[in-house]
Amino acid sequence: MSHAVPSYLHPDHLGPWGVYLQQVDRVIPYLGHLARWAETLKRPKRALIVDVPIQMDNGTVAHFEGYRVQHNTSRGPGKGGVRFHQDVTLSEVMALSAWMSIKNAAVNVPYGGAKGGIRVDPKTLSLGELERMTRRYTSEIGIIIGPTKDIPAPDVNTNEQTMAWMMDTYSMNEGATATGVVTGKPIDLGGSLGRREATGRGVYTVGVEAAKHIGLDISSAKIAVQGFGNVGGIAAKLFAQAGATIVAVQDHGGTIAMASGLDVNALLLHVANTGSVAGFALADVLPDAEFWSVACDILIPAALEQQITETNAHRIQARMVIEGANGPTTPQADDILQDRGILVVPDVIANAGGVTVSYFEWVQDFSSFFWSEDEINSRLVRIMQDAFAVVWQVGLDHQVSLRTATFIVGCKRILHARELRGLYP
Ligand code: GLU
Repeated sequence: MSHAVPSYLHPDHLGPWGVYLQQVDRVIPYLGHLARWAETLKRPKRALIVDVPIQMDNGTVAHFEGYRVQHNTSRGPGKGGVRFHQDVTLSEVMALSAWMSIKNAAVNVPYGGAKGGIRVDPKTLSLGELERMTRRYTSEIGIIIGPTKDIPAPDVNTNEQTMAWMMDTYSMNEGATATGVVTGKPIDLGGSLGRREATGRGVYTVGVEAAKHIGLDISSAKIAVQGFGNVGGIAAKLFAQAGATIVAVQDHGGTIAMASGLDVNALLLHVANTGSVAGFALADVLPDAEFWSVACDILIPAALEQQITETNAHRIQARMVIEGANGPTTPQADDILQDRGILVVPDVIANAGGVTVSYFEWVQDFSSFFWSEDEINSRLVRIMQDAFAVVWQVGLDHQVSLRTATFIVGCKRILHARELRGLYP
């Protein structure tokens, strides 16, 4: 079938979207009759680029480039975070939105996939500038978001305060308070207990399940973590509570290590006070490149995309990689790790805990009835364990990597919904 080929459809396309296209291509042979619909997965449903002008504190006007991409809405409204980072591009947001579609389908929450971002280093803005930028961005994407259309949430460099501003801006424009338009809000504005820790708790939960399958004892495991924010920091804390030793941590400030184990609570405090792991007194400093060859059992990339590549994959010592970040491993690195017998628990299942509790938050907002933290955590753990068991079995059945297995589960659910809905008009 010939049709005009969009520029973004080529798998050699550099960057995260190209990585995503290669991942989809690996799954198509396993989709059976649903392969007929597979090109749906390679085209975002809708992508919006917005200009975000704000008045700076010094009186000048600055313009930022913002995006919101709805990759797929076959199974429900778009859902996914908003990231503020100087390297954000449309290609990156497209890939992140597509990974949300797969992730939401893999854990079977009733959402499609979406993502947003602003190309900005938020550390260069004052609090007032950050608020004005967030509000103007929300107003600009207000034409496509909404509690039943597309529900943003926190991602890299955004947090509960960002969500409070987004909720307020959307609500002011609508003339009614709409708590369900974003998740990851402060508890006092309709946020959910357990949401802040949910992604890290999910990483820990699937890590424990995966460890059972490869005969790895968590209580004596050595773990290296890249990124010590909401995902890596919480996951490290939970693994340490289970007896594991955190032997190395890397973030944007540098790399620290301690073979006998880092004091995770002291490190969390240090990062909360200083913004990075750099300067933590109770550790040795490592050159950044040495992080990848640290002796450990579990490696948790929990920062940005394309960190594990063909240049460092052969140096990894771990028995298992758990992807807290979205897209940290390239397809070439996936192959190297698989050949070396290193299990990769992919982002699209490993970090799905955040959006799972976002789903709980959204349900609670709609019903205006709030659950206890125990209820939330136990439901989260059950969903993650059940989803992981399904994915593991599909991996065994088809003799494929866990990433391909998760994509098989997710893509089949998305395309089945697509097929049932049919084309309109
Ligand atoms: N940003 C998170 C993710 O990448 C959470 C998205 C959400 O809760 O909607 O999964």
